[in-house]
Amino acid sequence: MKFLADGMLGKLTRWLRMIGCDVKYFRNLKDEDLIGISIRENRILLTRDTNLFRRALSKGASAFLVEGRDEVEKLSMVAKRFNLDLEINVKNSRCPKCNARIHPVSKNKIREKIPPGTLKFYDKFWECPKCGQIYWRGSHWKKINRTLLEASKMMENLKE
Ligand SMILES: [Zn+2]
Repeated sequence: MKFLADGMLGKLTRWLRMIGCDVKYFRNLKDEDLIGISIRENRILLTRDTNLFRRALSKGASAFLVEGRDEVEKLSMVAKRFNLDLEINVKNSRCPKCNARIHPVSKNKIREKIPPGTLKFYDKFWECPKCGQIYWRGSHWKKINRTLLEASKMMENLKE
């Protein structure tokens, strides 16, 4: 499933990429450009802007109005609507920064790019082929999973 997020949804974009969704994100793009990309690339436009949402629909784009007060709530609503698994499967994960699919990378290849302490404690690493960012399941990993679990629980409680 392919999405396009408006400028207000930077954080949500990162979460969706982590769980494997293809999400394009632009911080400053005019409404008509967003609608154009959504139609041309067959991407579901995610927006918090009611006017943009209505305009997109009237022009034949697919769009979803993202409500919710915080990231957990937003994420649970999008996941519910599009039947997304709120779990990280690294085989599908995309780079939260740039949307490219990340690949496993051997420790030796990245030895110089990460802190020695990290090298000592972790064995599995992933690299983004596009921006070069290296990922590992560090201390933030627990927090990420906690947030996803919270969003899953909230999703179950959302009304149909
Ligand atoms: Zn990247």
